[in-house]
Amino acid sequence: MELPASGLDCQSCGACCFSSLETYVRVSGDDWMRLGSEAERVAHFIGNRAYLRMTDGHCAALIVIRPPDGRAHFACSIYDRRPQVCRDLERGSPSCDAERMVKAAWAAGGLRPNSPAPSGPTPVAAACG
Ligand code: SF4
Ligand code: SF4
Repeated sequence: MELPASGLDCQSCGACCFSSLETYVRVSGDDWMRLGSEAERVAHFIGNRAYLRMTDGHCAALIVIRPPDGRAHFACSIYDRRPQVCRDLERGSPSCDAERMVKAAWAAGGLRPNSPAPSGPTPVAAACG
């Protein structure tokens, strides 16, 4: 399936903010400092490492609006403070393509993919823009 790289709208996609993995988004020490007062709300420790919390299959910082008769809308509630890994995922990049291919339908309200999130550098970014 060919995915258009142009005209992508992260706020209508949200795919890269979804995962069934509790360790999906690593939060480094610098990330924790940048999160400031939001850190305790959106991040927590698993063992001796910090990660963003995951709720209902997506990052806890993701605001999901699902109108009964319209397309889902996504927004990152900590956009200016989001972790570096989220900043590094570029819209329209190969990683973005992979995220959308695997999880766009899930984010839009469909079933979760059977396969786990893609491996490699943690993808995430979302509602980035
Ligand atoms: S960066 Fe994330 S939210 Fe934006 S288009 Fe790519 S997968 Fe979707
Ligand atoms: S971009 Fe925002 S909502 Fe998406 S995973 Fe990163 S912090 Fe969470």
